[in-house]
Amino acid sequence: MKALVIEDSQTGLAVVSQHLERMGILPIAATDGESGVAAFRQHNPDIVLLDVVLPGMDGYEVARRIRAIEQSGEWTPIIFLTARTADTDLVQGITAGGDDYLFKPISEVVLAAKVRAMQRILQMRYSLVVLTRKLDAANQELTRLTSLDGLTGLSNRRHFDETMLREWRRAARYKRPLSLVLVDVDHFKQYNDTYGHLAGDECLKTVASALQAVSRRPSDLVARYGGEEFALVLPETDLSGARSVAEGLCDAIRALQLPHAAAASGHVTISVGVASLMPGNGVGGPQNLIAEADLALYAAKSGGRDRVGFRQAETVVG
Ligand code: GH3
Ligand code: MG
Ligand code: MG
Ligand code: MG
Repeated sequence: MKALVIEDSQTGLAVVSQHLERMGILPIAATDGESGVAAFRQHNPDIVLLDVVLPGMDGYEVARRIRAIEQSGEWTPIIFLTARTADTDLVQGITAGGDDYLFKPISEVVLAAKVRAMQRILQMRYSLVVLTRKLDAANQELTRLTSLDGLTGLSNRRHFDETMLREWRRAARYKRPLSLVLVDVDHFKQYNDTYGHLAGDECLKTVASALQAVSRRPSDLVARYGGEEFALVLPETDLSGARSVAEGLCDAIRALQLPHAAAASGHVTISVGVASLMPGNGVGGPQNLIAEADLALYAAKSGGRDRVGFRQAETVVG
């Protein structure tokens, strides 16, 4: 532990330094305000013992400077050393950022007791900082978890909704295209009926990671939209780009060759709906794009499944 002693009287300095050394505390000496502030910056002491009457800058000003130097959240105890005993001096010292007073001549036992009291507060403060850090980390983890789907680990519907709104607004502001891809597993009710609900869950997990693997841009979002439906939000992507992503999704699921005895192909397949538009600044919203992608998905289903349907919105919505 280091204590910065700012005291212009050599005798006073020597006495306080001796007391501190006997407590096992390393004293750092300064004999005026300017060099005291400089020593504070340089040595980052654990406690400051500060004379009030100093040549040049007085102790109150030194205390104010020290408080200004400290980073937010930091606190170094400051104990004033003074011969003054008026109540107003004490008030002025506390106002300037001091924490306690010691009256001259300095008593060794009182000094030791007050330093110990400050150490106790420092220790409690430190525990609080550690606790706050743990709490921050836990909160961050909680925020992360509330945006994830429990089964697949993809983003959940909530996160999808937030992202769609944000990307819609961004695309509208910069007049950029925005695409949405909706994915629906074909004949999945029959998959559950054939293999059981648990196997169905495993199948959804496998499909989810295959979809995730196809999406390559960091700005793309792959989400579980609900049940056996997934969605990809593709910012800065026009219809032709989104269609090629969608074809890639169908290919990836086909390549898995997951057995599905009740399906005509004998394997798990997906149908995909793609829609793209340039959002406007008017009354439109993400629901416009979702409705278009839904229609495209319906077209893929009625066209025979295991394929991509698409819609280019003719006009800018809004
Ligand atoms: P289509 O090809 O027209 O999409 O037919 P489908 O059977 O896939 O469509 P439908 O909407 O009739 O059935 C969806 C099925 O997905 C029914 C539901 O039980 C199942 N499902 C939804 N969520 C889950 C889930 O989390 N786990 C499992 N195992 N099944 C799910
Ligand atoms: Mg003095
Ligand atoms: Mg469905
Ligand atoms: Mg389905």
